[in-house]
Formats: sequence, C-alpha cells, structure tokens
Amino acid sequence: MKHASYDSDCIFCKIIAGEIPSQKVYEDEEVFAFNDINPGAPIHFLIIPKKHLPMLESAQSQDAPLLGRMMELAPRLAQKQGCRPGKEGGFRVMVNNGADGGQEVYHLHLHVLGGPRPWKK
Ligand code: 5GP
Ligand code: ZN
Repeated sequence: MKHASYDSDCIFCKIIAGEIPSQKVYEDEEVFAFNDINPGAPIHFLIIPKKHLPMLESAQSQDAPLLGRMMELAPRLAQKQGCRPGKEGGFRVMVNNGADGGQEVYHLHLHVLGGPRPWKK
C-alpha cells in the first residue's frame, strides 16, 4: 500500500509499498528495514522512515522523534540479524548524505553493517 508521502520516482518508496521486492527485516507504522541488495559486510541492512525524507536536511524538528526511533532500533535489529551484542560484537551505523557524502538513493536511510570481519566495504 502506498504511504502518505509516497514518491513514484523513489525506489525506496516502492520497496516500502511492496512494488519492488525486498528482504524485509522490520516494519512498523513509521519505519521499514530491509537487507541491502549489495551488502558491504556479512550483515548489511537499511533502516528507512516511511515518510519520504530525501536527506538529513529534509528533516524538520518534528521529525526528530522519528530519527531517534531509527537510531534506537539499530541495535535491536542488528542483534535480530545476527550481530553479536556488546563491546566484543557491535555494528556500524552510517548515513551517506548528498553527493559528496556518497548518497545514491535520495530517501534517507541508515546503513547498519555488522558480522565477522573482514568486510568488503
Ligand atoms: P547510498 O549510497 O544512497 O547510501 O546507499 C544506497 C544503498 O541502497 C546501496 O547500498 C545499495 O546497494 C542499496 N540499494 C539500491 N537499490 C536497492 C534495491 O533495489 N534493493 C535493495 N535491497 N537495496 C538497494
Ligand atoms: Zn522515498
């Protein structure tokens, strides 16, 4: 189903709507998470808001709780996907923002990478 801010030019909006298949990791009213198609580590998934925010500067102060929830979900979903907890385990959270930041898909997303090293990226 298309969400309120669905953008027909955005592949991640299409993934949320189920128009492009993905390996879903998590979904609730506001957030969707799925495995990256080109993983840079043994575990690599993306956490995205359902709201089509192209990049960090698209977020307004009213979006702060949403961004906070995405961060708070990261460790829970990382463990669910097989990352080891605590200091010995862990994971990397990354946002590529804008062309100089290496952003390719303009729907804000947190990369979560983990699992045993070495990693590809
Ligand atoms: P960015 O460079 O914008 O931070 O990252 C975009 C990420 O989305 C890349 O890691 C890329 O592999 C992933 N990606 C791009 N298209 C698709 C897709 O259709 N399905 C999935 N699952 N991941 C995608
Ligand atoms: Zn989008």
